[in-house]
Amino acid sequence: MNVKIKLKTDDPIIVTTGKDAGTKSKVVKLDRSGGKAICENVNVYKKHMKPNQFNPDGGIVDKSMPLDLSNIAYYCEKCSKGVKLGYKVLESGKKVRFCRSCGEIIDKD
Ligand SMILES: [Zn+2]
Repeated sequence: MNVKIKLKTDDPIIVTTGKDAGTKSKVVKLDRSGGKAICENVNVYKKHMKPNQFNPDGGIVDKSMPLDLSNIAYYCEKCSKGVKLGYKVLESGKKVRFCRSCGEIIDKD
């Protein structure tokens, strides 16, 4: 898979398709080679744990499953929607990401 991934960890995102469509979240972990991202409190499944010696009663654990990157988009506060990102090089030579809808530069520092 050779997808150019513009998202980074901690980026705000919005889910665009699937059962969590419209949910705003942020990227917790990126799986670049697999083209997936784990996002906070999105695509959560209850995982039933069998009782074992460490957890004698068993129980249910919430687990965020990875989302396909094609199902999420960067969430631009200014646009209040999921947007596509572009790259540009500033006069300083720094390469930054920007919102393709409103032009807002995302990587400010
Ligand atoms: Zn924007």
